[in-house]
Amino acid sequence: MSVTDKLLRLFRVDRQIGGLEGRLKSAERFLAAQKKALADLVARHESLSAQMRQLSASCANLEGEASAIGERIEQLRERMNTASTNKEYQATLVEVGKLTADKGRLDEQALELMEKIEELKGELETLEGEIGERKKMVEVATQQRDERAEEIREKVEQLRAQREEIAGEVDASAMRVYEARRERFDDDDEIMAALVAQNLRRHEFTCGSCMMAVPVDIVTSLASGRLCTCTSCGVILYLEEETAEKLVAGKK
Ligand SMILES: [Zn+2]
Repeated sequence: MSVTDKLLRLFRVDRQIGGLEGRLKSAERFLAAQKKALADLVARHESLSAQMRQLSASCANLEGEASAIGERIEQLRERMNTASTNKEYQATLVEVGKLTADKGRLDEQALELMEKIEELKGELETLEGEIGERKKMVEVATQQRDERAEEIREKVEQLRAQREEIAGEVDASAMRVYEARRERFDDDDEIMAALVAQNLRRHEFTCGSCMMAVPVDIVTSLASGRLCTCTSCGVILYLEEETAEKLVAGKK
């Protein structure tokens, strides 16, 4: 078996492993997205809760102040009933008027805060509903991820063992070329590609990856079993059985 044939076996095993792991990765990405969405909702909930606690405290302060003024007004009213002079009565009346206006402003501010608090309560309730839904999604996504992981575990183990065996038969320099491509490119088509015979009689061949012309001397070298890369894109070229047969037939 030529070095290219061995690499091709390796490449096919790697592609299977990649396909299986790709399915797991997509399940993991989905799970991560669900967790992120949940974390965002929880953070928003925390921020609104803090806002609400602050507003409630401010509101309680305003109510406290208003009620203290209310008590003071009551005291002044009693004093008015027992006022000995008209001057004293009038002075107290003015003070009551001023305090009543102050209390009115505080009541109004407290009311505004209470309205905001009610609004926040509504928002928090909606958020709690969304958080509940999102938690269910995280559960479903976790389950899917675990199922996927379990589904592929055994098969991937088998393939990895197979890979190791094949890799052990490939010579080191070819292995380095192959692993370098694998590291550089995510797309399988840029690691190994078939030589495409466009026109056998006219010796027209192209690279299955970049579609650029492949010189005849490389085709000859490839047919003799040597490791060949595309002169344009550097992909490792291989011969499909059909093309190899045609090449042999063409020589006769
Ligand atoms: Zn190419």
